[in-house]
Amino acid sequence: MNCILCKSNLIKGAVNHIVDLDGHIIIIKNVPANVCKQCGEYFIETDVAMKLEKIIEDVMKNKAEIFVVNYSETAA
Ligand SMILES: [Zn+2]
Repeated sequence: MNCILCKSNLIKGAVNHIVDLDGHIIIIKNVPANVCKQCGEYFIETDVAMKLEKIIEDVMKNKAEIFVVNYSETAA
């Protein structure tokens, strides 16, 4: 798999994924992703993205404006 922006190789790593949604800012730390060393872009795999959506849904119920969550502590 290559970066869609610069075509460099992607390596497995972890990123801090920031979601800005309806006035809520959700920071999800340690999200596994394929990271581009060249431009810093990252790509999250489908199963991980689905877990992120679940986390985001739960946070939205919380009504917190800013929420920081660690992916490795929430993912079963
Ligand atoms: Zn790139």
